[in-house]
Amino acid sequence: MTERAFTISGLAATVAGNQILNGVDLEIRPGEVHAVMGPNGAGKSTLSHVIMGKPGYEATAGSVTVDGVDLLSLPTWQRAQAGLFLAMQYPTEVPGVSLDDMLSNSFQAAGKSVDGLAEALTAEADRLAFGREFLERALNVDMSGGERKRNETLQLTVLKPKYAILDELDSGLDIDALRVVSRRVEAATNEDGLGVLVITHYNRLLSELKPDQVHVLAGGRIAASGGPELAVELEESGYAGYAESDAA
Ligand code: ADP
Ligand code: MG
Repeated sequence: MTERAFTISGLAATVAGNQILNGVDLEIRPGEVHAVMGPNGAGKSTLSHVIMGKPGYEATAGSVTVDGVDLLSLPTWQRAQAGLFLAMQYPTEVPGVSLDDMLSNSFQAAGKSVDGLAEALTAEADRLAFGREFLERALNVDMSGGERKRNETLQLTVLKPKYAILDELDSGLDIDALRVVSRRVEAATNEDGLGVLVITHYNRLLSELKPDQVHVLAGGRIAASGGPELAVELEESGYAGYAESDAA
């Protein structure tokens, strides 16, 4: 029997012909939170795009598995079905499609019943202090940064993936919204055993969404790993100690 884990091993990747990742190793088990920090341009978003199979982001070595299922050989929608969810740094606008439509389609594609979906959505919107009117609006169209992030969190909590990658979930959120959203994700790790890979620059996100481990991505690989204290240290001292990390 395979052990349950979201495992990234020796992952190398190119974007537009440039080698951005040079062998990234991470392992996230159910219920765990791993934070990835690092300078701008280090490849944090690239890591999330390669894992989900975004066109243009090419894995050149290594593997990514979700509970033993090899993701890199699958199309994006099957990666999602394997149990992985990505909350993007810049959520895409989808004119004409509401959150409600999108989630119904996802449930149907996964062979899950949509009974109770509407109730789950309103309950989650309330839990996230997110106006119910957003459930009917076109996805991310004319939404503020904070509204998009709440929207992503709502998708996550209703879809209930096994693992989630949250790319700068804190960007655009004010302090109150940040607290609500990070608490909600932390609760999912405890209630549903959600495993989280959270990309952030700020320790304040991590005061509610408590990381088991903190990693620094620099030079295309994990340059350092530690406990929550590493995030505090990085916020104070920056990434200067991590050589070649910020050519851009
Ligand atoms: P981070 O999220 O850590 O700030 P990114 O993963 O967004 O960094 O970017 C890593 C590097 O890859 C940067 O130099 C960026 O310019 C480049 N890059 C990312 N996406 C693309 C793309 N679609 N086309 C060209 N270059 C890209
Ligand atoms: Mg990024």
